[in-house]
Amino acid sequence: MGRCEFVGQALAAAVLSSAVALAVSRTSLAAGALFERATPESQGLQLTVKGGTAERQGDGTWLCKAPQSFEPVWVDVTGLGDYSEALGLEYDFYAADFSVLNHCFAFLCSSDGGCTRWTNAAASDEGVWNRVTLRKDDPKISRFDPDNTDYIEKFADWSKVARLRLMFLRQSPNPVTFRIGNFRPIQPAKARPAQPGERRIAFARVTALSERGDWEETAAFLEKIGFTDLFACVARGGHAYYDSKYLPKCLNLAKGRDSVRECIAACRRHGIRFHAGKANWNAEHDDTPADFLARMRAEGRFQVAADGTECRWLCPADPRNRELELNVMKELADLGVDGLHFDYCRYRDGNCCFCERCMRRLSEKVGRAVKSPAEVKADKALHDAWTQLRVEDITGFVKDVAEYVHAKHPGVEVSASTGRTPDMGLLDRAQDWPDWAKKGYLDFVSPMNYWWSPVVYRHILEQQIRYLKGVKTKLYPYIGIDCSKYSRLPAESFLRELDAVRANNLGGFAVFALDPYAEELLPKMKEQGVW
Ligand SMILES: [Zn+2]
Repeated sequence: MGRCEFVGQALAAAVLSSAVALAVSRTSLAAGALFERATPESQGLQLTVKGGTAERQGDGTWLCKAPQSFEPVWVDVTGLGDYSEALGLEYDFYAADFSVLNHCFAFLCSSDGGCTRWTNAAASDEGVWNRVTLRKDDPKISRFDPDNTDYIEKFADWSKVARLRLMFLRQSPNPVTFRIGNFRPIQPAKARPAQPGERRIAFARVTALSERGDWEETAAFLEKIGFTDLFACVARGGHAYYDSKYLPKCLNLAKGRDSVRECIAACRRHGIRFHAGKANWNAEHDDTPADFLARMRAEGRFQVAADGTECRWLCPADPRNRELELNVMKELADLGVDGLHFDYCRYRDGNCCFCERCMRRLSEKVGRAVKSPAEVKADKALHDAWTQLRVEDITGFVKDVAEYVHAKHPGVEVSASTGRTPDMGLLDRAQDWPDWAKKGYLDFVSPMNYWWSPVVYRHILEQQIRYLKGVKTKLYPYIGIDCSKYSRLPAESFLRELDAVRANNLGGFAVFALDPYAEELLPKMKEQGVW
C-alpha cells in the first residue's frame, strides 16, 4: 500500500469537465484554471491587501499584489456572511511560486470580539489552485487576537463573522502576486443508503490497530462497526509476520506471534472475511533481517535503477524471485485465508529495472546489444519493448497466483491494491490491472483512490468503471481516510466519496487505513446509520 499522494498529482485538465464544482483540492489543473464555484460568494465581499492592491477578476477571484517589505502579507476579507450552519469555511488560493510566501495563519474574527486562529491556511502547491479548508472542528484551532497578538478567551461567533484575516509570513522581502477567491461555507454531506450485502473492507497496516498485538480486538472492532472484510499485510518482499517456509520472520514481531493463524482464528469468530495481504517484491522495510538482504544482494536479485543504484525491491524478471513470491502466495492460500491480496504488485517505478538480466533479455528481444539505460530512455521503441517485458513479468506472476488459487481453493478471492489508472504513469510501474481483470485473474480490485476532493474522486471512479466495463471483476475502490497525520479525510468528504461508490452500485469499498482516526470516524458512521 502506497502512501497518500494528495499533492502534485498529474491530473489532465480534461478529466475535469466544466460541470465540475466544489471541493477540488491540490490537483494539478492547468496553471491558472479555476474550479467552478458551487455557490456564488457573497456580493458584499470585499478584499484588501495591506499596503498593496486587490483587484476583482472576471472569474470572481481576486488578484492580489503585495509590495516589497519585511512585514508579513496581510489580507483582510469582509462581507463573508453567516457561517453558523456550516462546518467551516473554505477558499481557493493560487500562487505561481512560493519563494516569497511562507506559512499562513488565518484569523476569523466575529463582531462580538471573538477570534479563531488556524495555523496552516495555505496549501503550497505552486502553479495550481489549492483548496484551503478552515474547519470548526480542527483540533489545532486557537484563540488569538490578530491585532494585538494576545490570546483571548472567546471563540468567534460564526453567525457574526466580521472579518477573515490571512497573515502570510515571508521567506524574502520581494514583492509577491497571488490569487484568492471562492470563499464559501463547508456544507454537511450525506451518502445515499447502503445496498444490501455491501462489502466494507478495512486495510490494517501491521503497524496500526494490530500493532497493539491483538487480532481478536481488531476483528471484534470490525464486527462492531459493521465491516465485513479485513486486508492485513502479513508478508513483505523480505520478511513475513507469520511462520513461513520461504521468508524469514519480521525482526520486530514478538516471539511466538503468527499474524496469519491469529487473524484467521479471530476473523472466523467475528464473521469477518480475512484477506492475507502480501507486499510483493518490496523489501524496503526496516524489519527485514540483514542476512536475507545480504544474500539477495550477493545473488544479484534486487532491482537496479538507471544510474546503477540498487533498489531494495526484488527484480520480477529473476526466476528465483518469481518462485519465492509464488511460493509465499501459495503458502498463504493453503493456510485457510478467505482471500489473497496483492499489494505493491509492480516494478518499483519507471526507473527500474536495469539489472544485468533485464538488460540482457531486452537485447535478446530487440535483436541487438542494448548498451545502457540511457539508450533505453532515449529510444521510444526500445523503451516500449522494455515496458512490455516488465508488464509481462507482473501480469504473468498475477496469472500464476490466480490460476493456482482459483483451481485449488475456489472459495478464496484474489484481489489487489493498485494504482488509480494504468495510463497515469502507472504503466511505468508495469501494473496493468485492467488487463488482469479482463483475463479473469482478479475477483475484485481496489485502486488506491486517495483524494481529498470528492469531485476528483468521482471522476477517477468513472474512469475506472470504464476500464472494467464488461468484466466480472468487482471494483471495491479505496477511500483514503487516513494516509498520514497530515491528510485525514473529513467526515463529509468521506460521505461524498462513499456516495460516489454507492451511486455506481459497486457493492463495496475499502478504507485505508485502520488506525486511530478510523477508530473514531467509522463508529460514528455506523451510529449515524450510514450503514
Ligand atoms: Zn531486473
